[in-house]
Amino acid sequence: MNDRKMHPESLMMSHGYKPSLSEGAIKCPIFQTSTFVFNKAEEGKRFFEVAYGIKEQEKGEELGLIYSRLNNPDLEILENRLCLWDEAEDCAVFESGMSAISTALMEFLSPGDILLYSRPVYGGTDHFINHFLKKLNIHSIGFIAGETKEQIIKRIESSKVSGNLKMIHIETPANPTNALIDIEMCAEIKNYFSNENRQVILSVDNTYMGPLWQHPLKHGADLVLYSATKYIGGHSDIIAGACLGSKELITRVKGLRTFLGNMAGPWTGWLLMRSLETLKVRMEEQAKNASLVAQYLSKHPKVEKVYFLGFIPENGSAIEKEIYKKQYLSSGAMISFDIRGDEKEAFSFLNTLKLIKLAVSLGSTESLAEHPFTMTHVDVADEYKAALNISEKLIRLSVGVEHHEDIIADIKQALDNV
Ligand SMILES: *Cc1c(COP(=O)(O)O)cnc(C)c1O
Repeated sequence: MNDRKMHPESLMMSHGYKPSLSEGAIKCPIFQTSTFVFNKAEEGKRFFEVAYGIKEQEKGEELGLIYSRLNNPDLEILENRLCLWDEAEDCAVFESGMSAISTALMEFLSPGDILLYSRPVYGGTDHFINHFLKKLNIHSIGFIAGETKEQIIKRIESSKVSGNLKMIHIETPANPTNALIDIEMCAEIKNYFSNENRQVILSVDNTYMGPLWQHPLKHGADLVLYSATKYIGGHSDIIAGACLGSKELITRVKGLRTFLGNMAGPWTGWLLMRSLETLKVRMEEQAKNASLVAQYLSKHPKVEKVYFLGFIPENGSAIEKEIYKKQYLSSGAMISFDIRGDEKEAFSFLNTLKLIKLAVSLGSTESLAEHPFTMTHVDVADEYKAALNISEKLIRLSVGVEHHEDIIADIKQALDNV
């Protein structure tokens, strides 16, 4: 067993936890404590030296527990387990997806730097980039799926803003229309603008497909970001986030986290560990259901168009097919579709659903439906909405673990009623 590397799902119940340190409890307890007792003053001195980077951590030396804003067993064990899915060296868990994203962007960007980002990104991320970062004199340049490397490089080089590209932040598949962006292409753009003095950082928000179905670090990304509120948490009962990458980069992210104080608490850490035990079975069931729902929708006369990764191998463009093949391990569980009609028909459908709940968020055990144009993406500028296919007739579905026949029956009765 020892020389064979185990699959992450086999390790979610035990990895990083020693029952002997907790009275033999099979499950990691909730360490609901703000501070930790040092055995000796010398020990406290050493823990601080390492935690504040005054002295290097020795090989094999574990960082001692100090204070729950710096570290806590529930967070550390959770972080070790999250690393397994993305094969990352280190992970930092946050109190929300937004705090993971904003902390990573703030750590690597300085006033005068340029950020390149894919459009659309999550509404909160978009707002943070275009309002808060702008205020700090950090400029951003957006691009959309389908633009080539040459076009993007030219755009950056000919842009009127002075300053250097320092970071690239992307989301793929894009929310809500599942448009694909090539992570390797972004890594090439990153390398083109990197030099000895300036290492451009590529971060990927992997909330839509991760941590099972897409592994951005393998395609040249430096950081993977999650809203753990979604699939990782998976039960619509917590808000949390995570950032993964190399030891070196995550040490920097954790440094800023310590001073912003936006780490997750022990209770959230414990709930996420519980969620991780069933992550794979949940996500696989959701993907299986989504495939059947998408097929049903695609044949329905009241549905104009279905945006679903599972249709790319047959109907996608050559570029989409290529990205899908190299980047995705599943077609996922997110579907968007255009209903025949407008806001009126879309709202009629949403208001008639019974099993599927009318709510934003995604990736949870229960199926959810929402209207991006007036809800999650209401803030997107109108000219972009058209380019991104976000119209009044668009509906977004997050497919859950219910029986697929019941999900489809609910969709059928709601469509019949339109
Ligand atoms: C929900 C979401 C976020 C924000 O996460 P919170 O946990 O709500 O802060 C960021 N990115 C994506 C893609 C999301 O879906």
